[in-house]
Amino acid sequence: MQIQLASVEDYLTTLTRHKTDFAEIMLLDPDTGQVLVSSEHEHRNLDQALEPFFVEGRERTFVQSVYRSPTNGKPTITIATPLKPDAEAKVEAILVAHLNLDTINRVLLRNTGLGKTVQIALRDALPGDDVAQLYENEAGTPVIGVSRWLDYRNAMLQVEMDQAEAFEPARELAWNVAIIGLISTILLVAGVYLLARQVAQPIMAIADTASKVAAGDLHLTAPVVTRDEVGTLATAFNQMTAQLRTLYQHMQERLQLVVSHAPIILFALDKEGTVMLLEGKGLDILGIQNHDLLKQPIEQVYPRVPAEVRLDIERALAGETFASVVQLEQACLEIRYAPIRDEQHNIIGTTGVAMDITERIQAEAALKTAKEAAEEANRAKSTFLANMSHELRTPLNAIIGYSEMISEEVDELGLHHTAADLVRINHAGHHLLNIISDVLDLSKIEAGKIDLSIRSFDVTELIQHVVATVDPMVQQNGNCLTVQIAPAVGTMQSDQTRVRQIVINLLSNAAKFTHQGQIDITVYAVFEQTHAAHTLPFDTRPLDPVDLPAVAALDGDHIVFRVRDTGIGIHSEHLTTIFDAFVQGDASTTRVYGGTGLGLAITRHFCHMLGGDITVESTVGAGSTFTVYLPRVFR
Ligand code: ADP
Repeated sequence: MQIQLASVEDYLTTLTRHKTDFAEIMLLDPDTGQVLVSSEHEHRNLDQALEPFFVEGRERTFVQSVYRSPTNGKPTITIATPLKPDAEAKVEAILVAHLNLDTINRVLLRNTGLGKTVQIALRDALPGDDVAQLYENEAGTPVIGVSRWLDYRNAMLQVEMDQAEAFEPARELAWNVAIIGLISTILLVAGVYLLARQVAQPIMAIADTASKVAAGDLHLTAPVVTRDEVGTLATAFNQMTAQLRTLYQHMQERLQLVVSHAPIILFALDKEGTVMLLEGKGLDILGIQNHDLLKQPIEQVYPRVPAEVRLDIERALAGETFASVVQLEQACLEIRYAPIRDEQHNIIGTTGVAMDITERIQAEAALKTAKEAAEEANRAKSTFLANMSHELRTPLNAIIGYSEMISEEVDELGLHHTAADLVRINHAGHHLLNIISDVLDLSKIEAGKIDLSIRSFDVTELIQHVVATVDPMVQQNGNCLTVQIAPAVGTMQSDQTRVRQIVINLLSNAAKFTHQGQIDITVYAVFEQTHAAHTLPFDTRPLDPVDLPAVAALDGDHIVFRVRDTGIGIHSEHLTTIFDAFVQGDASTTRVYGGTGLGLAITRHFCHMLGGDITVESTVGAGSTFTVYLPRVFR
């Protein structure tokens, strides 16, 4: 038996050496669990009684899943099977084979048919979840690894594959997609380009023609290459160009016709002085008949070009726009020059329009002479009137004085009839004296010989004085006079005599043109800050809105004198002329009331001279209101 066991042992050793799949093969004693023989001699008599492969292997063929071998400490799979001659016989030994795990892994790998870099291994590990992850293996190669816990084998099946190989298909796919995408894009772009060209080319041709037409070449036509919408567009465009051509030609003819009959000379010269345009009826003045003179130097077209015109052309070519007057062939021409610039604003020539202003110049000269003569005559008239008035006043004063003297004597003698005549002489004398004073004033004004005497005076006193003067006239026509003076009026610095004359004129007109009526004189101050009248303690009427524009136009403090009456009023058509000298209302008024038409003219002159103004409002039959605005302080 010893010999037999030894030979079996040799056999097993040889077997494991040749069949490297087996790590160790041994026979165990079925009763004790001792190693009877083993391919590893030193394991003989080793007690395996407690090993599961022994316990299970006694009963049946048993595969013990991966476990760490107590003998060599390596992960091992062990197959054990009872050896017995036949089914009923007693187990004589237990054949135990420890399998080499590396070999199993190789087998697994061979049988899976996976890639070159795939590593499959059963690993002895603790139970765990299935994992798939990217990491570097022990050799430092980036791998993708999947671990799966095989419960029935009590082992971890781990498969690793180089990332390079694992991702190769994905990379290949990406490349394929990229290349296909690129090719598709190129094809698409080419297709779109060709299509766009096909559509755009005719449109571009139309656009090109359109810009040339816009630049002035109206004889161009757009090519009609297709029968589609673009073709229709081209046809429509050509029709439009044709219409434009006809219209342009028509307009040109009309323009030429108009210009050739216009009493002007229209010309254009380029920088070298070559005539580019020469038109107009005015060419007759220069004796130019042949209008076919274009593209020739100006000297050739009109050899007598004066030096001043040459200089003017140079000025225009230097960029100036101006007008000048020249004498050409007995005619006086006003020529307006303007430089012609190209799109870049460079001067490329000049245009000119010449107009015959001979008649205008002559008329102006005649007018000037007439005006000077009229002014001279007016001055002479004013001087004459001033002298004459002076000459008349002296004897008149004598007549008035003597008539008063005689009247007193006649009164004493009791010659009442003669006394009444003398009073009439005296009144007539005074009336005449007033008229002469007016004439004298007006002539002095017109001759510019009025001297103002500016000093400070009390307005209320002035008004009281004036009221006393005009009172007899007011009474005479049965009128009632009301005076309203605002306390704030105070004093003013002006020409007292002229201010008095202004107010007397207005009040005496009111008294003259009002019968059995009411006359009001209101005086108040207007201040610059407010442009509003100071509230008058006695004046219940608000400031008349018609005054506002006039007041607003004034600067500084002003005194307002307003004379209202309930008299005959003035027709609206006379309102603008009553301030002119020698102008009166309608003829019937003149017949009834007499007068000279000088009072208001003098009044307005005085107002202006004192830096103020006068306005009037009137309603026929209802009355008139004259308002005078004078600066409180004359400057
Ligand atoms: P005269 O009173 O000498 O005719 P004026 O220059 O003073 O000259 O007046 C010109 C005209 O204006 C008068 O003739 C008259 O028709 C009109 N007029 C002036 N003041 C009044 C008034 N208060 N009412 C009506 N009409 C007037």
